[in-house]
Amino acid sequence: MIATPQAALTPEFIAALREFLPADAILSHPDELLVYECDAYTIEKRSPDLVVLPSTTAEVVSVVELCARHQVPFIPRGAGTNLSGALLPVEGGVIIAVTRMNRILNVDFANRRALVEAGCVNAWVTTAAKSRGLFYAPDPSSQTACTIGGNIATNSGGPHTLKYGVTTNHILGFEMVLPDGEVVWLGTKPDQGEDVEGYDLRGAAVGSEGMFGVVTRALVRLIRAPESFKTMLGVFESVDDASQAVSEIIAAGIIPGALEMMDQLITQAVEAAYHFGFPLDAGALLIVELDGAAAGLDRQADRVIAICRKNLARDVRLARSDEERALLWKCRKRAFGAIGRLSPNYLTQDGVVPRSKLPEIMRFIKATSERFQLRIPNVFHAGDGNIHPLVLYDERDPDQVRRAVAAGEAILEKCVEMGGSVTGEHGIGVEKMDFMARQFSSADLEAMRMLRRVFDPQGRCNPHKMFPGSKRCGDFAPRKQASA
Ligand SMILES: Cc1cc2nc3c(=O)[nH]c(=O)nc-3n(C[C@H](O)[C@H](O)[C@H](O)COP(=O)(O)OP(=O)(O)OC[C@H]3O[C@@H](n4cnc5c(N)ncnc54)[C@H](O)[C@@H]3O)c2cc1C
Repeated sequence: MIATPQAALTPEFIAALREFLPADAILSHPDELLVYECDAYTIEKRSPDLVVLPSTTAEVVSVVELCARHQVPFIPRGAGTNLSGALLPVEGGVIIAVTRMNRILNVDFANRRALVEAGCVNAWVTTAAKSRGLFYAPDPSSQTACTIGGNIATNSGGPHTLKYGVTTNHILGFEMVLPDGEVVWLGTKPDQGEDVEGYDLRGAAVGSEGMFGVVTRALVRLIRAPESFKTMLGVFESVDDASQAVSEIIAAGIIPGALEMMDQLITQAVEAAYHFGFPLDAGALLIVELDGAAAGLDRQADRVIAICRKNLARDVRLARSDEERALLWKCRKRAFGAIGRLSPNYLTQDGVVPRSKLPEIMRFIKATSERFQLRIPNVFHAGDGNIHPLVLYDERDPDQVRRAVAAGEAILEKCVEMGGSVTGEHGIGVEKMDFMARQFSSADLEAMRMLRRVFDPQGRCNPHKMFPGSKRCGDFAPRKQASA
């Protein structure tokens, strides 16, 4: 069941909020709400009725209980870097932003785990652990902004999750406030060993896109940092050659820590922004990072270099220092930020294809770019077959918006047709709801809905996301036109 629309919040609701939240933790002015009208998927927008900024689990419980009493929908929010519209307040409601709950509560070096609040920024965890040679592995490119709560809700990946696994592999347990206000802990508890009492529901809730409750604290796994790195930059004439090298590196039994690709257009934008010294005429760049025990890494690096050369790499450079390696990763991880040099807006797609089909999907993206007359640079997790075409458009031109949506949908359709998926890590949100019925049977979808109802029987927690047929923002014309 989906909650009934909440036109506007009553004065009684706001007065009740003021009893347990300080004034600066309640945002209600239209100018303040504007900040929350979308996440990093900017194509659909709608302001919430209210934003609250709790500082404790108890405050989250009070807000959620109040919403339950008044039948008001609410949306848990972290840093707002989501790329699929998972934060869109389709029919208004209250955004519960946990960004003030951002403390690292404890780093347990002996047991290699850290207890953090949900609004803790991803990169801060590694910063707190690295003095003792430990790190938190999932490293989304947004890691200097995104939060652990948001990572849990989207089961985030990142360049290094090729080798180390995604968020679900590194979350031992977490505290969540259910939509009726009950506080539950899923998975391993902070004061226990790794065993879990009763059903282990953490895997069911990781990746639930904020639709099961508000995560307030998390116990995350820390792992030993690699002893040594070999970070290489392969310079190729074409995306085809670079893609073939990706397949052959994996087929050779080598699992790099990261295997990332940038095409020519994005390389040019990144070079203009960060000045690494990338060759502007290269068709594609491959970043291959090997890590682990120092012994044997040289031999693996030689094999990677040989595979790149066999696939016509013009050059393979090895990072000569930690500084050069850090700069290379800065360029890769901030690539989306460089897009501002090319276009006022971009739509990030997140399809997955079998790795061996990378050349085919990249050719299809090029053809799609020509068909819709929009530029589409690519920077992506090649080792995972997880593509990120960035469809460039200008939101002031409705026809460009329509074409951007249509181009993105054409690419995702192709991914499904090729045996892949419409999301590798960014989630479904509002953007890809219609694709769910193409990827899953109606029985699968019903099973997912039933699971969701266990956590949120009234459908008030982040409503109108993920499931096909959900309501959309009434004024969203581009998608209607695109599918017409
Ligand atoms: C430049 C850029 C690069 C990116 N690179 C990557 C990448 O490499 N890999 C990757 O996986 N993603 C990437 N992303 C997407 C995004 O950063 C991740 O999905 C991230 O996990 C979102 O975290 P957040 O704190 O911003 O969450 P938000 O955007 O605030 O929320 C995302 C979802 O999580 C839910 N949520 C947030 N906090 C909570 C909570 N406390 N409890 C319950 N639900 C919650 C929300 O309701 C929403 O459904 C990138 C985004 C950008 C802008």
